[in-house]
Amino acid sequence: MLKQTVVTRFAPSPTGFMHVGALRTGLFAWLVAKQAGGTFILRIEDTDKNREVEGSVEHIIQCVRMLGLEYEYGPDKPGATGPYMQSQRLEIYHEWAKKMIADGRAYADPYTPEELNHFREEAKAKKQPFLYRNHRPDNPPVWDGRLPLRFLSKPRDYSWNDEVMGDLKTGEEVIDDIVLIKSDGYPTYNFAHIVDDAEMGVTHVIRGQEFISSTPNYLNIYDALSLKYPIFATMPHIMNDQGNKKLGKRDGAKDVLGYIAEGYLPETMLSFIATLGWNDGTTQEIYERADLVEKFSLKRVQKSGARFDQRRLQWMNGHFIRELEPKELALRLERFLSPAAKKAEPIYRQAVIELCQDRLKSLSDINTLSNFFFEQPTPDTSLISSHKQLKKLSNAELVGLLSATHDSLSETEWSQDAIQSSLNGLLETTGQKPVILFSIIRIAITWAPFSPELDKTLVLLGKDEALARIAAAKSVITDRQS
Ligand code: GLU
Repeated sequence: MLKQTVVTRFAPSPTGFMHVGALRTGLFAWLVAKQAGGTFILRIEDTDKNREVEGSVEHIIQCVRMLGLEYEYGPDKPGATGPYMQSQRLEIYHEWAKKMIADGRAYADPYTPEELNHFREEAKAKKQPFLYRNHRPDNPPVWDGRLPLRFLSKPRDYSWNDEVMGDLKTGEEVIDDIVLIKSDGYPTYNFAHIVDDAEMGVTHVIRGQEFISSTPNYLNIYDALSLKYPIFATMPHIMNDQGNKKLGKRDGAKDVLGYIAEGYLPETMLSFIATLGWNDGTTQEIYERADLVEKFSLKRVQKSGARFDQRRLQWMNGHFIRELEPKELALRLERFLSPAAKKAEPIYRQAVIELCQDRLKSLSDINTLSNFFFEQPTPDTSLISSHKQLKKLSNAELVGLLSATHDSLSETEWSQDAIQSSLNGLLETTGQKPVILFSIIRIAITWAPFSPELDKTLVLLGKDEALARIAAAKSVITDRQS
């Protein structure tokens, strides 16, 4: 017997926005194919012309590539079972449709919207559910491609298995005569995906939760066409940060390119998206690509919604940023650097970048963290007045601390060890707590809310510059209205 190879597909619609949840479906489909040495197809489902947004196909391809989900076949990779854009397959759907008509399993829907509305009202008045199959025309017109074509269903109950959702069961009341081909000649998703999956040899249908209630109707169509059922795997929704509703654009959800533009690494996005609703049974949260291919399993995808935790995303990004080789980090940071940083002397710039590496949660943090290395910082005394501890000190006290620091550092050899012991010595001579002393020095040097380790910052900035900034900060603070 021929061993059936695994074929999966990612089948997004070109509607403009590549939701992280959609991409997760694509990632899981890719993983299932990769693990089995199978085939992964990118299929564009562009049969709803009203919802189509220009440029979406390119956008989808970019998102898929960004995560490294290489596909064997797709809109730009022809193959024997293609084309892989549904709008280029209309003849194929029409052939299948004609065969269904010939088999007595499809009919032209002759009703006007008003007539259908009337049926609906009638059912409502009788407190009955509305079903198209209760209104099959006795003598349907010949289908000319301009009327909607409906499936002639054979209602029955179904039980089937879903790799994620488990055993599912429905009664015959959910089976109805759904539209196969619309009056504009385009197939519905409901019909097109079944034809395509069959023609493309798809073994695993991995898709979002919104399709689960239609699955029994799909099973009825598979039966009508004598098609073998594929393996179904339904992905749970992705919920907002609070976990109480579906994640939407209003929660600040961006598509994956948006996150990349903000300074998240593709490695982070891959690991983060994979762990939205999946784990390998251990507490591991961070996965490299090869690790995912080895460990992923549909069986371990959770049934309930997965929470999109922004803080976990940042934490994970910090992790992947820390893992980068220094040269690689510099390359990734290039597009985020300020003009002043770009102009700086390369060895100095590289040293600054490496110093900031362990504090970056996003590549775009680099400027807030390091601008003061490349240009004179603008004093911002609100950093003092809003500081829990510093705001309790008078200008004279603050200036006193900076004077003592200036004196001590002037006498210090400019190495990390010497600077560290000078700073420790200052704690004793001033009798101040570290949070107070080191915060005011940090502010004087950087005028920034966040900065890398103080001793290393001082070393890198150089003695003359550090002393000049402390002196300048003393006059800013003296003039400050406190
Ligand atoms: N075209 C569908 C969508 O974008 C995909 C459903 C499927 O994967 O079968 O939602």
